[in-house]
Amino acid sequence: MQEVYLDYNGSAPLDPRVAEAMWGQMTGAVGNASSSHRFGVRRAAAVDDAREQVGALVGAAPSGVVFCSGATEANNLALVGLAEAAPAERNRIVVSAVEHASVREPARWLLEQGRAKLDVAGVTPGGWVDLDELDSLLGPDVLAVSVMAANSETGVLNPVAQAAEQAHAAGAVLHCDATQMVGRLPFDMAAEGADLVSLSGHKICGPTGVGALVGTRSVLGRLHPAVHGGGQERGLRSGSLNVAGIVGLGAAAAICAGEHSVKAAAVGGLRDRLVAGLRGALEAVSENGDTTRRLPNTASIRFADADAEAVVFNMDPVAASVGSACHSGAIEPSPTLLAMGLSREAAFETVRFSLGRFTTEAEVDAAIPQTVAAVRYVRSMDGGGAR
Ligand code: PMP
Repeated sequence: MQEVYLDYNGSAPLDPRVAEAMWGQMTGAVGNASSSHRFGVRRAAAVDDAREQVGALVGAAPSGVVFCSGATEANNLALVGLAEAAPAERNRIVVSAVEHASVREPARWLLEQGRAKLDVAGVTPGGWVDLDELDSLLGPDVLAVSVMAANSETGVLNPVAQAAEQAHAAGAVLHCDATQMVGRLPFDMAAEGADLVSLSGHKICGPTGVGALVGTRSVLGRLHPAVHGGGQERGLRSGSLNVAGIVGLGAAAAICAGEHSVKAAAVGGLRDRLVAGLRGALEAVSENGDTTRRLPNTASIRFADADAEAVVFNMDPVAASVGSACHSGAIEPSPTLLAMGLSREAAFETVRFSLGRFTTEAEVDAAIPQTVAAVRYVRSMDGGGAR
């Protein structure tokens, strides 16, 4: 059977047009982008173009783009950078309960280090942040609110603009991890009221290991640097620039900006075809999260009485992912699904399918019977259900 890749939210394949743009920098170009000779100047010009392309994807000025190694670093720079430079009377951070580990963990680290206080805003059963609860947590001591644009496991979209309004009313900064949103649906940070936005190359068919924190001039000016050294990237992230990666991120952003309105509808159609095929063939299939407000490429599906790890293992060579993460050897259910009110059992029975630009109808049609067979097999085993 052919391999089918349905894990775009984990990492999306590199677009050949991006690879071509990068190739030019990897083979034909030489020099450090900070050097003043002609070789360096050419490299810096390529970086400037990418800065414009990435800014344009999220409606920001090129000068607001800080290149870094990916969304994990961008999220760390946002939260730790703000907290390190904050006045003592503004030392509380509020994050939603469904944030990625790269937001949750730096926030928890700041708390453990005594550098910030932390509150977590719950989510509705549909999976988006509960705005009443968020509002009740805000006050004059809140430094930052972090609410992601779209959840990586369910695809559910958050009310970022309303969260930003509430955060601003309390005098806090709104950070938005838009890693799964950008490139899939239009996202304009000014319209959303986001002050800091994180994004990553490999989620938008660009290279892995490059991303950006995009911010308004005033908020970027308030951040403490993540990496100290030669002062690159507004002094926030020193180090010689990864020009090929940055050019790849820029090319990926430009392709997304030009294509996402058409692609979103096509990918949404394929995702719905997949879900309908699975529902048609199997009993007890349900979707997690509000299906009326989510990314077009994602489906979080519970196959009752079938352990998701076992299903994914038996689906090979069709690739999807489980909502659970392995921490020091112990498998834990997804905090996102638990925060939405799912039982541990339901979380352990959930498989995430995420499609993308290169997914075809033939691939979806091949994935359906393979998944159905895997679920049936796992259900037929003794104790097929989740632990
Ligand atoms: N935020 C979200 C919502 C993500 O889905 C991911 C990647 N799974 C990250 C941050 C981390 O991105 P990166 O791999 O670029 O560090």
